Amino acid sequence: MKPTVALVGRPNVGKSTLFNRLTRSRDALVADQPGLTRDRHYGHGRVGGKPYLVIDTGGFEPVVDEGILFEMAKQTLQAVDEADAVVFLVDGRTGITPQDKIIANRLRQLDRPVHLVVNKAEGVNQSIATAEFHELALGEPWAISSAHGDGVRELMDRVLEPFPEEEEEAQARHPKFAVIGRPNVGKSTLVNAILGEERVIAFDHPGTTRDSIYIDFERAGRNYTIIDTAGVRRRTKIDEAIEKFSVVKTMKAIEDANVAVLVLDAQQDISEHDATIAGFALEAGRALVVAVNKWDHLDGEKKETIKRDIARKLSFLDFAKFHHISALEGRGIADLFKSIDEAYQAAMSKLSTPKLTRVLEVAIERQAPPRVGPVRPKMRYAHQGGMNPPIIVVHGNALEHIPDSYIRYLEHTFRKVFKLQGTPLRVQFKTGE
Ligand code: GDP
Ligand code: GDP
Repeated sequence: MKPTVALVGRPNVGKSTLFNRLTRSRDALVADQPGLTRDRHYGHGRVGGKPYLVIDTGGFEPVVDEGILFEMAKQTLQAVDEADAVVFLVDGRTGITPQDKIIANRLRQLDRPVHLVVNKAEGVNQSIATAEFHELALGEPWAISSAHGDGVRELMDRVLEPFPEEEEEAQARHPKFAVIGRPNVGKSTLVNAILGEERVIAFDHPGTTRDSIYIDFERAGRNYTIIDTAGVRRRTKIDEAIEKFSVVKTMKAIEDANVAVLVLDAQQDISEHDATIAGFALEAGRALVVAVNKWDHLDGEKKETIKRDIARKLSFLDFAKFHHISALEGRGIADLFKSIDEAYQAAMSKLSTPKLTRVLEVAIERQAPPRVGPVRPKMRYAHQGGMNPPIIVVHGNALEHIPDSYIRYLEHTFRKVFKLQGTPLRVQFKTGE
């Protein structure tokens, strides 16, 4: 599973500068989707064969003015608590501040690796830049420049050192779906409705209390794994009251699933929070099925209003199927499974080079890419570059001139021909081969 790295530190030490550097290359692969709320605090990065998730806790910094007890915001604490490694950034130019000391005290109590990093150290030698920070008693500090990139690669090599390289096979040979959504939309009720009527084969893969629960089950002769982010089967009465939403848990579950089932509450307005969670699934490239839950006790007019609201606010999920269900009454679940199966098949499709190339040729015949000045991009052939999501790599010349609208046209064409309902699809270009 991908490790999660949390960036912490007081304001202005350079967390968001480092975050942008760590996530830049990966983000560029995801075309901007109209309507998608991009949460800039969570991103994907990779060093060599090791992908990771990175969280910039900066946005949660509380406005604290009473000086005695500085409390990091609850969300920050939660993120730090759930991360696999913590990067604690300090400012090499200003030196140690009282706030740094308070954060250091807190981090020293953690049972996971904390890396003390001295930022803004461009042009300064490691030992000089880090000298005064030994006092924070968090091990050997490492100096970097987030702005210039010095020392960042080495930093990430150190941070990721304990974690294994990405496994190649990894993909389950049956749908492994994560039930995601904000609190109270009905995730637990849905998980219970699904498992209540099914034969649960294996129960509870090993994990810690901060992880989601994995349950294998069989339904109509087919195998599935459900990833339960709400942790229904582990909750006690006491937990239930304090159970809160966890971004890290949600992101990890999405990464580890091949299909995400996004649960929405039809009896509440669709919120930014819903859109953000949907965005996580999209950025991870996971197949997606949307369950609009609590579709009971609604009159016809209200149903229409909600459908319009969802279509407007989640327009970037146009590739996914939407189901109107009632987890409480156990209605709509059979159809939901049809879409989970379909989305899984689409995400795992194997597309042959001759077929892809033929579809590409037909698409070009119907509508050629526009000329840019004297150049006309020339597309020669296409091959599949990956699954879950399907990645279609188009080879040719001058492909960097192809406009986004044409990329969407190609996506649309491939999606239609290969019946890729339910999964995001990525079309990429490779020039000169
Ligand atoms: P955050 O509040 O911790 O997220 O900090 P920011 O990333 O917004 O950075 C705060 C300020 O420090 C900005 O003006 C950055 O341009 C500057 N900064 C960030 N990293 C570096 C660095 O490596 N060197 C220098 N000289 N300035 C930096
Ligand atoms: P979670 O936080 O997403 O796991 O949400 P829960 O499953 O705990 O449900 C939150 C509340 O919504 C509970 O009071 C449920 O009884 C209620 N609820 C869940 N599903 C439905 C549904 O389909 N219809 C109605 N009317 N209420 C529901």
